[in-house]
Amino acid sequence: MRLLITGAAGFLGSHLTDRFLADGHSVVGLDNFITGHPDNIAHLIGHQRFEFVRHNVSTFTYVPGPIDGVLHFASPASPIDYLEHPIPTLKVGALGTHNALGLAKAKGARFFLASTSEVYGDPLVHPQPETYWGNVNPVGPRGVYDEAKRFAEAMTMAYHTYHGLDTRIVRIFNTYGPRMRPYDGRVVSNFIVQSLTGRPITIYGDGSQTRSFCYVTDEVEGLCRLFMQGDNDPMNIGNPIEYTVRQLAEVVVELTGTKSPIEYRDLPRDDPKVRQPDITRARSVLGWEPDVSLREGVTKTIDYFRSIMGTDRLPLNA
Ligand code: UDP
Repeated sequence: MRLLITGAAGFLGSHLTDRFLADGHSVVGLDNFITGHPDNIAHLIGHQRFEFVRHNVSTFTYVPGPIDGVLHFASPASPIDYLEHPIPTLKVGALGTHNALGLAKAKGARFFLASTSEVYGDPLVHPQPETYWGNVNPVGPRGVYDEAKRFAEAMTMAYHTYHGLDTRIVRIFNTYGPRMRPYDGRVVSNFIVQSLTGRPITIYGDGSQTRSFCYVTDEVEGLCRLFMQGDNDPMNIGNPIEYTVRQLAEVVVELTGTKSPIEYRDLPRDDPKVRQPDITRARSVLGWEPDVSLREGVTKTIDYFRSIMGTDRLPLNA
């Protein structure tokens, strides 16, 4: 297949690109580098089946030649990123999704939307099955991301229903691993980078809030299966093992052997108290479930951050 991936220089987009290339497909990667980084695709420059176009998918998007799949992964995706880029976040979820859908329709391609567990907001149902409609504050700090993705899901479903487009919607839960940005503000990258640089480990609130962390290779396997053999309804892909943020800090402290102290900070506004995917549907439709443990995944992620320490991505004096 020849696949178009938006956000190909991002954390998930670049891993997905690697995977499709390894499976023998061709990939056209798009990215405007708002939050993606050229280093994530540097190893692919010159690859015979990879083309890269620097482009903002929120503007008119066209790619010559046949395309079999359009996978829309472009978006700022961490809370500090979408607070810094609120309008581009809304645009890429709304206009970018519309452009990517239009391109898929013009090419007769399958469309795949990277949606998010954030569509469930601060959930009142726990764990979250795909049938839960969510509890989102549209005008809170997370609204720009959450509502853009909710709109994107509605738009994708409309193209499926009214244009007969073959579509997929994945709701991605907290995913971590190599190529996360050291300063993107996510809890896993923050705790590891703080531990490695000897700075205080910042727990927001009392650390009793929960998340369910999926290692990137597990996530990508789920995404590929959904793309290849899934159906049109939204699908949760995430790790159902739930941890408190405090438990995560303990694991990172132990595995890095850091002497960094723990520091408690205010909880950000609208921070979800719990989050855990119900993956019954992924298990039955895709035969998928994650198998990398938190310790295994965090160890590999620590290795990655160690490998970029002292480079311009993670300067030692930053
Ligand atoms: N968090 C934290 N310390 C940090 C960064 C995040 O305690 O340095 C908390 C944050 O308040 C949230 C959880 O960790 O409860 C996950 O945050 P993240 O930004 O990774 O993703 P979210 O799931 O909130 O989108």
